[in-house]
Amino acid sequence: MAPSPIPPNSFYIWTIGCQMNKADSERLESGLSQLGLVGADSATDADVVVLNSCVVRQSAEDKVAGMLGALKPLKRRTPDKVIALMGCMVGPQTGSLSARFPQVDVFMRPQQYDPLFHLLNGRMDIDVEGCIGPLTARPAVTAYIPIIHGCDKFCTFCIIPYRRGREVSRPVADIVREAELLVERGVKEVTLLGQNVDSYGHDLDGSTDLGDLLSAVNGVEGLERVRFLTSHPNDMSDHIIDQVADLDKVCEHVNLPFQAGDDDVLRRMRRGYTADDYRGLIDKIRNRIPNVSLSTDLIVGFCGETDRQFGRTLDMLRDVRFDKVHSAAYSEREGTIAARKLADDVPAEEKKARLRAVDSLQEQVLTEINGALQGQHVEVLVEGIRRGKAHGRNRNDKIVYVVGAEDRIGEVVAATVEATGPWSLQARIGAAA
Ligand code: SF4
Repeated sequence: MAPSPIPPNSFYIWTIGCQMNKADSERLESGLSQLGLVGADSATDADVVVLNSCVVRQSAEDKVAGMLGALKPLKRRTPDKVIALMGCMVGPQTGSLSARFPQVDVFMRPQQYDPLFHLLNGRMDIDVEGCIGPLTARPAVTAYIPIIHGCDKFCTFCIIPYRRGREVSRPVADIVREAELLVERGVKEVTLLGQNVDSYGHDLDGSTDLGDLLSAVNGVEGLERVRFLTSHPNDMSDHIIDQVADLDKVCEHVNLPFQAGDDDVLRRMRRGYTADDYRGLIDKIRNRIPNVSLSTDLIVGFCGETDRQFGRTLDMLRDVRFDKVHSAAYSEREGTIAARKLADDVPAEEKKARLRAVDSLQEQVLTEINGALQGQHVEVLVEGIRRGKAHGRNRNDKIVYVVGAEDRIGEVVAATVEATGPWSLQARIGAAA
């Protein structure tokens, strides 16, 4: 008879990709910790190794495949080591994946932790399921709470709806309870997460939306701040905008991807709005929330994008003057509508040049925006120490280093901005005279 596997004591989670993946990993970490497993420093030292994968870009998928390759000899040497592949690489069918990666013991789709816990149940001398409380992020000053899984939009370039599935909203009561639990463990700020949080609730009772959820979470005692990510221009309703304007804990920051500044490109992406629609929405948000900060996502070099069309993306950046831009060069993903129907015809060198143009324009815009904050009063939630300095963010999501706040982690402190740069602010504790 083969000996029973040694019960696991330690785990190591490797994560790549978006905030949703980071949030999923934090929740899994919480579950494994509740079982008494401790975090290890590397896959070599751990009894349970989880790779949380991403497929948004080919390079991310290649990295995961590389990691899995490196784990193969380790699995051969220590066959009791549990290797789990989690996240968007795991689709509804795991057959081809298990043939490709025989070193993997268990496959888990995003947010589906049960297969790993069932496997551990067989290896640990305890009732795993009875031991796990609600899965929440690890205790820290800030935490993510997933509120809606999946996406119904099917933008032509995006693989997410195929991998994460259709939209499923979590009930308001579950989310509020999770926020309360996090507060009990010291969390001061939560970010409500989803691929498209603005469509939250449409699959619930039909009358609950993100504005209602923001209001419910705003009522959690002891919580200082609430944020939400990511919005979609077509689903950002007046009610959501009003709630951001009116609720005291909801921070004045909106991440609203525009993806491209040209209408033909937007049509080919199947985004469902024009550049003017987007500008109109920005005006509406700014009128209702005058001190709002705005961030965005954009793609350069999408199929057929000409120089002139790319120029309209730069025009949008100049017009709106975003506080943060996440830019990416288009990378074809097998299985998407764009991969099937459109030619990825912008040369790689051209995509890189366009990214450089975005970066340099944005650096200039941010130098100006942040420069205007010199000498201003900011409220910073201190999140930790980095390179010997206390750091946190203001309500507008700007990174602020605060001299004198080293022993104030977890508190909101008043500070005065002493120096500015495009990517962060330097401040000193104390309000300006
Ligand atoms: S809204 Fe579009 S880009 Fe965003 S996750 Fe959904 S399909 Fe992907």
